[in-house]
Amino acid sequence: MAESLDAVVVGAGPGGLAAGKRLAELGRNVVILEAYQEIKAWKPCGEGVSKETFQTAGVPEKAGVVSNELNMRVYAPSGKYVEIPLHGYAINKDLFLQEMAKIAVKAGAEIRVGERVESVVMENSRIVGVKTVKGEVIRAKAVIGADGYNSVVAKTAGIDNKTELIPVFQYKMVGVELDSYKTGHIYVGSMAPGGYAWIFPKDEEIANVGIGVRPGAPKVYLDKFIKDRPELFSKAKVIGVGGSAVPIGGMSKEISKDGVLIIGDAAGTVIPFTGAGIHSSIAAGIKAAETVSEGIERGDLSKEFLERRFLEKYDDWVKRINDSLKAMRVFEKLGDDDLNKLAEVLDYEDVIRLANGIDIKSVAKKLLKHPVLAAKVAKALL
Ligand SMILES: Cc1cc2nc3c(=O)[nH]c(=O)nc-3n(C[C@H](O)[C@H](O)[C@H](O)COP(=O)(O)OP(=O)(O)OC[C@H]3O[C@@H](n4cnc5c(N)ncnc54)[C@H](O)[C@@H]3O)c2cc1C
Repeated sequence: MAESLDAVVVGAGPGGLAAGKRLAELGRNVVILEAYQEIKAWKPCGEGVSKETFQTAGVPEKAGVVSNELNMRVYAPSGKYVEIPLHGYAINKDLFLQEMAKIAVKAGAEIRVGERVESVVMENSRIVGVKTVKGEVIRAKAVIGADGYNSVVAKTAGIDNKTELIPVFQYKMVGVELDSYKTGHIYVGSMAPGGYAWIFPKDEEIANVGIGVRPGAPKVYLDKFIKDRPELFSKAKVIGVGGSAVPIGGMSKEISKDGVLIIGDAAGTVIPFTGAGIHSSIAAGIKAAETVSEGIERGDLSKEFLERRFLEKYDDWVKRINDSLKAMRVFEKLGDDDLNKLAEVLDYEDVIRLANGIDIKSVAKKLLKHPVLAAKVAKALL
């Protein structure tokens, strides 16, 4: 039976659940459609997030959802590392998403699982709903596409959401021998060209061990990374495996058509340098919901309104994404020697700024004094 909703959200990942919850809070009649039978992290994930992610999502920081509290070390090819004393979390993403789902439902959103969307439905050049693979048409004033980097909403609505993807591969391992299971490890250099390798311990026994590389086959690089570090991995065994892709080329040129807005990985809202997209997609979900709600109020869900208003509301994140992309573009050209030099001069606050695209100019100014890095890094960052 045809139904008419304020909004339909496609995808119950972090972005879609945040959008659904916020729309319900704003009194909107919203349904979230999830392709899989359960709300879960179906895609592999490092599961590292900042503490602020919990605040933005409105999820309590409780044991279980939080697997582990971590500080970070970023290793240069030489083995020298910069220690980042700030603590973030390794989460259980399955439980985190289930908490988000619970909160969304309690706010009044409806979640329908096992409902894969096949396409958007268009009438008179305007999106008026979606069609599921079962053939059901669900009509809504607005559609939010939060269906990941391979977004069906973007494809079938004709939204140009191209951005650069980095292929990634990850093992869940038991028995990695770390000096502290309270430290996450990030490795940069030619062992992970154009990307990095990570070890995020979930507890004393289990760690997510992954890599992203451009170009190339990430599994080959990850296997070599592990083989080259017998001191860490000689007793480790794989209990989980998965590959995927992360959109690290910055936000897509287009994020909307009349009646539809895409967010999260679908729109490339990942922080490029780190590949972290959980927090930024939750923030995007909230801002998209507010944009759509305002549009319904004004009777204007045009591409022009949705795109302009969303980008105004999401401006802080847009700036971070752009600056992180700028820093990534400079760093991806550096060889191991330059990275080793950087490890000698950067402190942890510089590393955080560069990776997250926050005040990268201050790092550039510091590097201007360096005989080699001034030309190669500082000027490019300015
Ligand atoms: C290996 C790996 C490691 C990562 N590590 C981290 C990390 O440590 N920290 C971090 O912050 N980020 C990390 N990321 C990135 C992060 O996972 C994503 O940026 C984030 O999950 C994006 O959220 P999203 O809601 O936009 O999309 P997704 O998480 O991709 O969710 C999309 C949802 O839509 C559903 N869906 C897809 N198509 C349809 C359809 N046609 N109909 C209905 N539903 C559909 C999917 O099943 C899924 O539930 C990692 C990514 C990878 C691949």
